[in-house]
Amino acid sequence: MLNLKNPAAQSPVRTRSPPPPAPTQPPKPLRDYLSYSAITTYQRCPLSYYFKYIAGLPEKTVSSSLVFGSAVHRAVEHHFNELMAGNEPPKLDALTGEYDRHWQEADPQAVKFGKGDDLESLGQLASKMFGAFQTSPLANPAGQIIGVEEELRGNIVAGCPDLLGRIDLIVETADELIVTDLKTSRSRWSCEQADDSAGQLLLYHELVRGFAPRKRVRLQFAVLTKTKELSVELHEVRADRRAVDRTKRIVERVWKAIDAKIYYPAPSPMQCPGCSFRKQCRAWIG
Ligand code: SF4
Repeated sequence: MLNLKNPAAQSPVRTRSPPPPAPTQPPKPLRDYLSYSAITTYQRCPLSYYFKYIAGLPEKTVSSSLVFGSAVHRAVEHHFNELMAGNEPPKLDALTGEYDRHWQEADPQAVKFGKGDDLESLGQLASKMFGAFQTSPLANPAGQIIGVEEELRGNIVAGCPDLLGRIDLIVETADELIVTDLKTSRSRWSCEQADDSAGQLLLYHELVRGFAPRKRVRLQFAVLTKTKELSVELHEVRADRRAVDRTKRIVERVWKAIDAKIYYPAPSPMQCPGCSFRKQCRAWIG
């Protein structure tokens, strides 16, 4: 239909098309370093890596097992900090106090409890776990504690950003540095499970080894299980050169993919139900 009010509009003159919108620049990465958890996030689902580490979308929900694990970490960290300061090991009350404080700081609306879990049942479980921890050899390491939740950063893979590691515990003996990463787990770890997670400790090995070149760096996972039979088990990881190099090659490939902005959804029944970015993922069209 002709527009009689606007004569200019009647003549079919070719108008210049409006300038194309300025190309939208992809957001800059929020960090100038890589962490082990960022690497494994990319490996599990490149699109969730993008949402979390590049777009910086807030995670609206957090699983209770994640908050529980962090709260247990905080309590155990308090134990080792006291030992490092030369104090007596804290009593059970002090550990549960740290655990509770962590929960108080969490956003109650955001926490998604697993089936059969609630604040009270998890608190009781934590208290029993601390009892098992206090009587385990882990609670009283032989040697001098030189680092608790120690943040180390370094460039260990050429061409990649620095790696940032937060190491739960570093103990020094006459001839070793013992690097321990603490895990809470629903079940006891098998040797294969420790092998599958070894990459984290192998990378920490590279961050730590420069501190005491004459000492052997020993790596171990300390696994606190949430099973009925509570246990604290140590799983040693051998830092042979081939395994370290293989892990570095993995980091290198993951970084190349991130640097090339290769992001795509990798749906899985294990990841997607707990993913905070389901809505954005469904809206994603490439
Ligand atoms: S919903 Fe699944 S596929 Fe989509 S971003 Fe999350 S983990 Fe990836």
